[in-house]
Amino acid sequence: MKKIQMVDLKSQYQKIQNEIDTAVIDVIRSTQYINGPEVKNFQKDFEEYLGVKNVIPCANGTDALQVAMMSLDLKPGDEVITTSFTFVATVEVIALLGLTPVLVDVCEDTFNIDPDSFKKAITPKTKAVVPVHLFGQCVDMEAIIKIAEENNLYIIEDTAQAIGADYIFSDGNKRKAGTMGHVGATSFFPSKNLGCYGDGGAIFTNDDELAKKIAIIVNHGMHVRYYHDSIGVNSRLDSVQAAILKIKLKYLDEYADARREAADYYDNAFADNPKLVTPARSSFSTHVFHQYTLKTKDIDRDKLQEYLMSNDIPAMIYYPVPMHMQKAYIDPRYKEGDFPVTEKLSKSVISLPMHTELDEEQLSHITSKVLEFVNK
Ligand SMILES: *Cc1c(COP(=O)(O)O)cnc(C)c1O
Repeated sequence: MKKIQMVDLKSQYQKIQNEIDTAVIDVIRSTQYINGPEVKNFQKDFEEYLGVKNVIPCANGTDALQVAMMSLDLKPGDEVITTSFTFVATVEVIALLGLTPVLVDVCEDTFNIDPDSFKKAITPKTKAVVPVHLFGQCVDMEAIIKIAEENNLYIIEDTAQAIGADYIFSDGNKRKAGTMGHVGATSFFPSKNLGCYGDGGAIFTNDDELAKKIAIIVNHGMHVRYYHDSIGVNSRLDSVQAAILKIKLKYLDEYADARREAADYYDNAFADNPKLVTPARSSFSTHVFHQYTLKTKDIDRDKLQEYLMSNDIPAMIYYPVPMHMQKAYIDPRYKEGDFPVTEKLSKSVISLPMHTELDEEQLSHITSKVLEFVNK
């Protein structure tokens, strides 16, 4: 059996090796390593794929979130609402900009922001909300958009884990994750669903004025060369990464299908097991399974992880410590017990290997070892 990995980037690369190698060597020979034509080409393809008017590439997903927030002219002290059950970058950029992160709880079935908790957390200082489409499935955006509109709030979507997922509105309209709010941010970190071979990220918006502002911010606040109208940052996607992403974008939907197939296999194997809850699939969103995350019941989750590891099966805990209990984000407003769903999830979830290259032999081995532990 092929060695089981959390994410198997090597096997995925080998299937498209010729295409990738040629594209990378072309960039090297062109010597246009920064802002080469590949960046523009990928940007156009990505705009078309997402059905969004503007994509602005940048250096990574954290920058994408930061620049998105900078473009909205938020002021120090403004409150930005997001969930405590997320990767740190979401909360980090809010704090870095001198804004106040306001954390709320998630829905137990989807791991995503709970619209009622969001609504209750709104104060006169609230200016924006950051829905995080966690693990590959969209937040209940219709509910979030309604509440945000009623309260005049910006929506900044963190789409780092759900690129390619479709949200289905109640009128049947479909939109890609990241394109429903004022601005969306994503990451091309190698292990993401659309990953490059280094760091990369992008910002999306349908607002042309905002897009112009974002393009200026990522380029040192520079509109005309060496004239700086605003304080910006240096955040670029390089040409090699853009060339790789242009190729991988063609396969993104196939990759999502492969992930869903693996998820179906897991779902079938664990169906009706009293100790395991398989990931919910919302009626309003497709799932692109960035992670396959089980909820465990009445078993020692950490022992399960150890057992799998000892059988050469990697398994990860996303995320073991909620943001409101992280040392860096300790805030007198929050204490243990404030976000019961998030806290329960952080103690009970476990993510199994999930990528585009899992074969039946591997899946069978993983599921039988999980069941061996939980049924004993
Ligand atoms: C990966 C990730 C990010 C950050 O992306 P980087 O490219 O690593 O900076 C932000 N938010 C979420 C939810 C992520 O999973």
